[in-house]
Amino acid sequence: MKFIQYKIGDIVQMKKKHPCGSQEWEVMQLGADMRVKCCGCGRMVLIARPKFIKGTKKILNRDMNEKLELEKRSEESTMG
Ligand SMILES: [Zn+2]
Repeated sequence: MKFIQYKIGDIVQMKKKHPCGSQEWEVMQLGADMRVKCCGCGRMVLIARPKFIKGTKKILNRDMNEKLELEKRSEESTMG
């Protein structure tokens, strides 16, 4: 499994929807408990890190870059 380093300000998409209908959360604080803010209603909640990681679908603000990096790597490997 790939290890993801979360950063403050990351926008993550969770598998479970918030009651307000939003699936997107902004990372506010890192630690054993992650503090995240709902992008839909602005509510802040604390989630235990393992639970947060398990519930994360993807990091929206980094998905593109990681994809590009992966494509670049696979191109390099086919050349070598
Ligand atoms: Zn919400």
